[in-house]
Amino acid sequence: MKDLCSIAIDGPAGAGKSTVARIVAEKLGFEYVDTGAMYRAYTLKVLNMNLDPENRDHVLSILEDTDIDFMENHIYLDGKIVDDEIRDNKVSKQVSYIASIKEVREKMVEIQQLIAKKRSVVMDGRDITTVVLPKANFKFFVTASVEERGRRRFLELQSKGIKDITLEEIIGDIARRDNIDSNREESPLTLTEDSVLVDTTSLTIEESVDRIISIVKEGRLDCSTQ
Ligand code: C5P
Repeated sequence: MKDLCSIAIDGPAGAGKSTVARIVAEKLGFEYVDTGAMYRAYTLKVLNMNLDPENRDHVLSILEDTDIDFMENHIYLDGKIVDDEIRDNKVSKQVSYIASIKEVREKMVEIQQLIAKKRSVVMDGRDITTVVLPKANFKFFVTASVEERGRRRFLELQSKGIKDITLEEIIGDIARRDNIDSNREESPLTLTEDSVLVDTTSLTIEESVDRIISIVKEGRLDCSTQ
């Protein structure tokens, strides 16, 4: 059997992780797993069911009946693809609270670890290097300044025709999410000692991808110990 390989990527919102991780996965022929999309899908369901996203009991009331998966670059919520819906701003605003709930995290981590047992993966999120795949073959922490992350998100929304939000509001939202993600009790976002730091503030997507791929190619022989 071919050995499995895992590449774990953590970092804050808007650092370009998903874009970079997806291209790295494509180039290596690995499966890309966007774990943020899984927390977003759960949040979407809470909102669609008119439950209070800041009420722990409401959030947990659907835990057993909710089916979430990430396959071939698509996020599935109860069997339906929800790639676009999960990017809505109302989901972005609520997701960090929901992702701070222990039981929600345990469910997602279990699904993520199962995926990595079957396929070679590039997985990105906030707790991949620490909790989901602590023994990943390669670990990266992809980040950028909060202003640059806000600017990228602003341009992305503008290009989609979403113009009712200012750059300042976006930077504020990102800083608020950073704060919750880094200071929560359950699996906070952490730069581990064994992760390679990739600061994309002044790098293009291609440069960020090349940096990761070259490190993986150099260490390729290590890709057998998952
Ligand atoms: O990666 P993205 O920004 O789409 O993730 C949305 C939110 O999901 C994050 O702000 C964070 O609160 C949560 N998340 C998490 N653990 C992960 C991935 C995402 O807590 N592994």
